[in-house]
Amino acid sequence: MPTATPRTGLPAGFGGADLPERLPRTGAMPRPDVLERGVDTLLGVGPAVQRKLARLGIVTVGDLLAHRPRRYETAADERTVAGLIGDDEAVLEVVVRRASGRRRGRLHILTAHVADETGEIRATWFNQPWLEKELTPGTRLRLRGKRNRFGFQVSSYDLGDATQTADFAPVYPATADLAQKTLRTLTEQVLGLARDGGEPLPARTRSQAELPLRADALVALHRPRSEDQAERARRRLALDELVSLQVALRRRAAERESLVAEPLPPPGPVLTRYREELPFTLTDAQERAIDGIDADLGRSIPMQRLLQGDVGSGKTAVALYTLLRAVEVGRQGALMAPTETLAEQHFLTIETLCAELGVRVALLTSSLTARERRAAHQLVASGDVGIAVGTHALIQREVAFSDLAVAVVDEQHRFGVEQRAALAEGRSPHVLHMTATPIPRTLALTVYGDLAVSEIAAPPADRKPIVTAWVTEERSSEAYSRLRRHLDAGRQAYVVCPLVEGSETRLARAAEDEAERLRAHELRGYRVGCVHGRLKTAERRAVMAAFTAGELDVLVATTVIEVGVDVPNATIMIVQEADRFGLAQLHQLRGRVGRGAEQSFCLLVSGSRDELSESALERLEAMVATTDGFELAERDLEIRGEGQLVGARQSGLTDLRFTRLRADRDLLEQAKSLADELGDDPLLADSAERLLGEAEHVGDS
Ligand code: ADP
Ligand code: MG
Repeated sequence: MPTATPRTGLPAGFGGADLPERLPRTGAMPRPDVLERGVDTLLGVGPAVQRKLARLGIVTVGDLLAHRPRRYETAADERTVAGLIGDDEAVLEVVVRRASGRRRGRLHILTAHVADETGEIRATWFNQPWLEKELTPGTRLRLRGKRNRFGFQVSSYDLGDATQTADFAPVYPATADLAQKTLRTLTEQVLGLARDGGEPLPARTRSQAELPLRADALVALHRPRSEDQAERARRRLALDELVSLQVALRRRAAERESLVAEPLPPPGPVLTRYREELPFTLTDAQERAIDGIDADLGRSIPMQRLLQGDVGSGKTAVALYTLLRAVEVGRQGALMAPTETLAEQHFLTIETLCAELGVRVALLTSSLTARERRAAHQLVASGDVGIAVGTHALIQREVAFSDLAVAVVDEQHRFGVEQRAALAEGRSPHVLHMTATPIPRTLALTVYGDLAVSEIAAPPADRKPIVTAWVTEERSSEAYSRLRRHLDAGRQAYVVCPLVEGSETRLARAAEDEAERLRAHELRGYRVGCVHGRLKTAERRAVMAAFTAGELDVLVATTVIEVGVDVPNATIMIVQEADRFGLAQLHQLRGRVGRGAEQSFCLLVSGSRDELSESALERLEAMVATTDGFELAERDLEIRGEGQLVGARQSGLTDLRFTRLRADRDLLEQAKSLADELGDDPLLADSAERLLGEAEHVGDS
């Protein structure tokens, strides 16, 4: 007689396999409403767990089914305490002797003395204080992890009889206070409901493309029997997601077809002069982007184009070209940036070039005095100003352009939905979106449908990839001596301060203190400036200008330098406590160096490896491994898991859960043709609307 289906059992009908006994029959008809039920209807979910799940974006049973494991455990050998070899991953079956926890700074360390018949070892868990009360003497444990210099560092564990550390056990995106185990147990409970979600793809399509049923894919996603099976399941779900998205994007595009913009005539002499004034020749990639933009601007449908290019790839030159296309015919352009610092930087870059061309540029930010603001608004309203640069202050309703023809939105995902919608009201300008950090939604909207995309894949040819190194705190003095060597050779440097919890004011104070400390120690004798979010605009501008002019050697900064700061002579950056930053943030920070022909360096300083969380280790490793922003964006998602993008969701961004944007390009083609075929399916239409969320673009009305 067969034993109960193992937890990693083969799901029903997957690739033609047998039906397991444990999937309850739910009748022939799917019951999509079942998936809409709250997680609180599940066994073991009280208000506390419900709250924790909500933080991961899991509210309904369906959300739980769609919570994709970020990876699966691979096979590890079972060993005895005496039989542990080196630092190989291993599984131990042990009993708790005693356990105790303590805090060290922001780290919680839980230590348990555990033993089997061959010996005793100290097992450690980081940042899982809630576990302490479970580890009473005599508790049986199955541990998975590695030996380190303190004992055994646990990566996953089972208490009592559970065997979920087995091969291919799913590892979910989780929060610190929600154990893997809880997620595993809960998904186990809902797998039987997978069929109630229904099957969006017709049988013919499925058999042609050899696709598993959606329900089976969902089961296999959580309980695969091999990596390969998990991947096939993921791709099936990614296809559904992309088809839904296609359907949604088609609707969006159809709506926009009804908007009207005034076509611009082809580029003339102002743009020829612009090219002459530029201190460099545009790269092929920049020229290609410009070709696409020129084509769009000649149409009577408003341009909606996304310019993707990694940090430092030269998007600004293309943006200014686009703005000048409007100015050349006596109309106006607007450039919007997410922060004041970035708006100011754009303004400084653009103003110099524009002065040569006789084009007037205004900077509109919230830090203008009332009088300055009125004056600026007046100039914009009268049409005296050709290009307005600013933050969201620019797009507040009171700013009336005399004749806005082109809007450039830098790093659009930083804009709130309402802000973007505000600019669009009553006008349909041509819009160019620029981004250096391809978040899934941006990519989704672009590669996939309703935005045209230009990509600057290669940076200007004289760039060398930034060399990134990761050092632990004990060796940070070496990082500073390296930095001083750069300074002594006439280069400049950035030191990025640790993130501190709390207000902008606290952050600012910490940065000031750190600058002071560095002036007294590591950077004694050098000219050290400091920028943070609490400086008055004039002060910040003065510091930035001094750094740009080479009057400061080092800029100690908070993440306000994340975007836009452009000083080619700055060739080295130290990021302190780099483990606390997100991957996208680190990449943006790193982009401040490597802007000239000189070889540049980025030194990431962190605590010791043993103290870092698994995801912090992965982030730092990823930073060292690649400078490719697209690759990092994808890595970032894998590491964080979609669940932790809740913040992004609140700002109107919806994510793709299953799609891996690089690996799944082929699925996209498939999704496009399926969307043509299945566009009216109500199941798809529903999920399409959900995916699009409430997001709006500039230019939509
Ligand atoms: P991005 O906005 O894409 O991060 P920027 O537009 O700020 O990048 O450009 C980064 C740097 O590269 C700037 O110093 C800019 O002057 C320079 N640059 C841009 N295009 C070229 C080019 N075609 N050749 C050489 N340098 C360039
Ligand atoms: Mg830029």
